[in-house]
Amino acid sequence: MTRYIFVTGGVVSSLGKGLMAASLGALLQARGYSVRLRKLDPYLNVDPGTMSPYQHGEVYVTDDGAETDLDLGHYERFTGVASRKSDNVTSGRIYSDILSRERRGEFLGGTVQVIPHVTDAIKIFATADADGVDFVICEIGGTVGDIESLPFLEAIRQLGNELPRFSACYIHVTLVPFIAAAGELKTKPTQHSVKELRGIGIQPDVLVCRAEQPLPESECAKIALFCNVRKEAVIPALDASSIYDVPLQYHAVGLDKQVLESFAITDAPAPDLTRWNDIMAAIHHPEGEVTIGVIGKYTGLRDAYKSLSEALVHGGIANKVRVHVLWIDSEIFEREDAVLHLEPLHGILVPGGFGKRGAEGKIAAAKFARERGIPYFGICFGMQMAVIEAARNLAGYNDASSSEFGPCNDPIVGLMTEWDKDGAKESRAADSDMGGTMRLGAYTATLKPDSQVAHIYGTADISERHRHRYEVNMAYREKLESKGMLFSGISPDGRLPEIIEYPAHPWFIGVQYHPELKSKPFDPHPLFASFITAALRQSRLV
Ligand code: GLN
Repeated sequence: MTRYIFVTGGVVSSLGKGLMAASLGALLQARGYSVRLRKLDPYLNVDPGTMSPYQHGEVYVTDDGAETDLDLGHYERFTGVASRKSDNVTSGRIYSDILSRERRGEFLGGTVQVIPHVTDAIKIFATADADGVDFVICEIGGTVGDIESLPFLEAIRQLGNELPRFSACYIHVTLVPFIAAAGELKTKPTQHSVKELRGIGIQPDVLVCRAEQPLPESECAKIALFCNVRKEAVIPALDASSIYDVPLQYHAVGLDKQVLESFAITDAPAPDLTRWNDIMAAIHHPEGEVTIGVIGKYTGLRDAYKSLSEALVHGGIANKVRVHVLWIDSEIFEREDAVLHLEPLHGILVPGGFGKRGAEGKIAAAKFARERGIPYFGICFGMQMAVIEAARNLAGYNDASSSEFGPCNDPIVGLMTEWDKDGAKESRAADSDMGGTMRLGAYTATLKPDSQVAHIYGTADISERHRHRYEVNMAYREKLESKGMLFSGISPDGRLPEIIEYPAHPWFIGVQYHPELKSKPFDPHPLFASFITAALRQSRLV
C-alpha cells in the first residue's frame, strides 16, 4: 500500500522545502522503504523549460525528456531514484490538458470548473505512476496564502479523506525568525501560517520550523499548543553547513520518526545511515583543495547551475578534496585579459548556455585551456565553444561560429533539424515552438575504444541526458580530427557527435549532454570524478 506525504510551505519561500522532502526520502530509504518524490508547482508556465534561469534557477531534465523544477534534482541526488515526467506538474500543464479536452468535447456539455475538474486532475497526477512504492512525497510549490496554490491545497485536502485511513501525512515547513533587536525568536508567523492552512481544511501532522537559532523547548511547546500539533512533532530545523548534512540533522531531531508515527507505523526498521555518515566525513575532512573556474553567464545566481555545483562537490568527494569554485562571468574577458583570471585555476569548466552574449569569453577560455594544458570540461554549450575555438585557431576557419548566433559562413555548430528518438524521427525547423522542442532527455552514445572517455566510463555504451537545439556539424569532423581533436563519442546512428577530446592534452573533454544531472554524492559521475583528479594533478604542478 502506498502512503502519501504532502509537504507545504508557509511564511516565506526558500525555506528548503525541497531539501527537507529529499532528506525525508533519503531517511525513509535508509529504513528500507521505497520512495518516489514529486513536485506540484502552482505557476502557469506549462513547464519551467521556457523560464529564464534568473527567474527559476536551473531546468532539471529527466531521462524521459521532461524539463522540470530544480527540486527534482535534489530528490534524485538524495535518493538515487530517477525522476520522470510524472514527477512534476504545473497549473499551466493541468489547465492546458483540461482545456484541450474541453475543446475536444470530452466534458459532454458540462461546465468545467476548478472544483472538481482541476482538483481531480491534480489528484490523479499526485497518485499516478506510483509503482506501488511505500511512500510518495509530494511537495507543493509556493507558499500557503498564494492564490495560485489554492486548487493544489484543496486537492491534497480531499485526498486526505479519500485515501485509506493512516495513508496521508501533512508536513508544513515554516520560519521562526529571530528578531535581533528584541533578542527573541518569534512564533507568530508560524501560528498565522498554520491558521491559514487549517482554514483551508488541512491540519498539519508535522511542523518543520526553520530557524537560525536553536528553538527552546518552551517555544516548541507554544507552537504545538497554538498550531494544534503534538509537541514532539514540532521539528526544529537549523541551517546546515552542507546540504548533505541535512538528512542526518533531520534524523537527529526525529523527523522520520514523527512521520512514521503519523502513519501509525511503530515497527519501522532502524535506519542505516552509513552512506550519509561517509559523505559527511568526506565533506568535512578533505585532504586537499582544488580551484575550478566555471566560466558562465548566470554566475550571479547559483541556482542557475545547481546540479553543476553539486556534481563538482561530488567530484571532490570522490577525490577526498574540497572543490573551491570561482564563478566567472565570461563577459569580463571582453574587457579584461582572460589570463589574469584563468592562470590561478586548476581546472576550467564551461557549462551549458544559450545565446551569443558572453560566447567569445568562453571561446577564449577554451583556447587558454587547450594551449596551456589546463584541464578543460566543456558541457553542452561548453563543448560547442571548444569546437568553434579549434575550428578557428587550429583548422583555419576564421569565420567559424554557431548558427545560434545568426547566419555565418562556417556554421561549425548548426541547428539540428532531424534526429532519431527511440527508432522514430524527430524533426524541427527554425520557427518551431520554443517550449519542449529541444533534443531532450536520455540518448545513448557509443565511445571510441581506447579514448580517454572510454577509460573514464569503463564501458563502450553510455546513456546521458540532453537539452540542446544545436549540434556540432559532422561535416567538419575530418578536418578537426586531422588537427588533433578526437570525436570520441557518437550517437549510435553515427550522425551526432556527443563527445570530443584531445588525446594529446592532459584532460580536455567536451560533452554534448549534461552529466551533472546524474551525479550523486554517493555515486559521483565518472567525468566529474576524473576532472577533479586531473585538476588535483594540475594543482601539484603549479
Ligand atoms: N544553446 C546550445 C544549444 O541549444 C547549448 C544548450 C545547452 O548548453 N544546454 O544547442
